Amino acid sequence: MSVIQPAHSTTTHPRRLWWRDDDFTDYFSTFNALERTAERLGARPLVAAIPGNMASDFRLRDETFRFAIHGWKHVNHGCTDQQKSEYGRLRAPDGVLPELLESRRRAQDHFSCCLENWFVPPFNRLTEQHFPALLEAGFDAFSTSGDESYWAAQLPSLKLPFICVDAWSEVDRQVKDPLAMETELESRLCGRTVPGPLGLMTHHKRFRVTDWERFDTLIRHLRAQGWLLEDCDAGFCANFPRHCPEKTSERQLEGWSLSQRTRISWR
Ligand SMILES: [Zn+2]
Repeated sequence: MSVIQPAHSTTTHPRRLWWRDDDFTDYFSTFNALERTAERLGARPLVAAIPGNMASDFRLRDETFRFAIHGWKHVNHGCTDQQKSEYGRLRAPDGVLPELLESRRRAQDHFSCCLENWFVPPFNRLTEQHFPALLEAGFDAFSTSGDESYWAAQLPSLKLPFICVDAWSEVDRQVKDPLAMETELESRLCGRTVPGPLGLMTHHKRFRVTDWERFDTLIRHLRAQGWLLEDCDAGFCANFPRHCPEKTSERQLEGWSLSQRTRISWR
């Protein structure tokens, strides 16, 4: 990996990152690889789990990770644009609310005190007819990708900890190059109106050992450029701000940032 000179950010918001890993259903060997990476980096992702695909006798092994609710079974009900979605345009809203509630009930059984009341839509998609069910289900936060100003306008009562960037390049079929990733993060950071850190997304079931090595290199590069990878402990999740830029002063933003700046030793 080539040595890259420090970039000079033109943005005023802190260059902060959090990390989400998706599609947990059990402690498979692929998850062990994630755990080793997290330990090396000294930061844990929020783990998005699929409650409908988990065994009824699943047992939480320890309280190391925080978990979020990643749909029900991660099945594709379709969108008009042919992109996969469990909560897409081709699915009638009937039955979605009970499904969301059952998913959280199962997640609560499985993860107990390690569960965050955050909803992560499978395939990072959810269309308008399912917004009422999502809101009525009473989640605290909604984490997805895409246009954050759109989501903030549509779901003003939810915290919106956005995942902005996939660490994986579908084109190259591997973890993104550090310089390309930094450029992408900087462009997302410029001009955004939503407070709080940007997100990085990984998929432990897809990643091979070499992918985690590239991810490790990527994070170390970003840190060398001044990015802060935050540990997704309960305090982080609880303190994630709601989207209200018109009501959020710079002082509030600064104070929130400072309160989150102390990294937590977890091993
Ligand atoms: Zn997923």
